[in-house]
Amino acid sequence: MKIQTITTGSTLVSSATPDRSTHCWKYAYTGLFQRRCKRIEVPVKCYYVKVSGHSVLIDTGWSKEVVEHPMRHLGFGLWFASEPVMKQGESAKEQLAGQPIDAILMTHLDCDHVSGLHDFDGIAVYTSKAEYDYASMERLRYGKLVKGREYRFLDFKPDENAPFGQSCDLFGDGSIVGYLTPTHSAGSVIYRISGADGFVLIVGDNGYMKDSWRKGVLPGPLYNADNMKLCLKWIKEQSEQFDCLGVYCAHERE
Ligand SMILES: [Zn+2]
Repeated sequence: MKIQTITTGSTLVSSATPDRSTHCWKYAYTGLFQRRCKRIEVPVKCYYVKVSGHSVLIDTGWSKEVVEHPMRHLGFGLWFASEPVMKQGESAKEQLAGQPIDAILMTHLDCDHVSGLHDFDGIAVYTSKAEYDYASMERLRYGKLVKGREYRFLDFKPDENAPFGQSCDLFGDGSIVGYLTPTHSAGSVIYRISGADGFVLIVGDNGYMKDSWRKGVLPGPLYNADNMKLCLKWIKEQSEQFDCLGVYCAHERE
């Protein structure tokens, strides 16, 4: 198993985005009515995974388009809430030039995860149907970036070991399993990658950073707060398993 972290620049967000307790207002993560100089900068990561003969990209980070035309690419609303910071050559497409990708797996469809998708053509993209339906409805949160691509839906089956009872064994060999987690968004997915030595979890924004699951810090954008609390507890338990090799979040600063 090989996991390559790809940092596609960063994003300037309200401190309420990773930690909602920093502000009283429920929608403080949008950055409305806050000084932009108080924003914090967090990395935007995606992961290139090789396991059991499969090569997949999990999330896509920022598109190379944001270097020159951030507002045109994102639309004003998304740009305002999550201003991208990226240099030429830092997009996933540019960093992975020439490497094979069998499939792109989405943890969810927020702009900092789906933006880079627009740089890749002809590769199957997987998400959950719940996420696609929700993202198609909630235009304010997701904007226009979700459109213009074809998606395949993960085929979830009942699984008593899954945090919310649903999992999808992507290649049928147990190497990459997606867990449906209605937490940060309606159809967020955590991916478990299993190799000979153990497993890793790629959790997207379920754990915005390590403190999310280590200390139960709740992020700003939430679809279901109770589910998120359960999920962070589940991630912490998984991280303590003897064969857990790591938990990878999308915005960890380390
Ligand atoms: Zn994110």
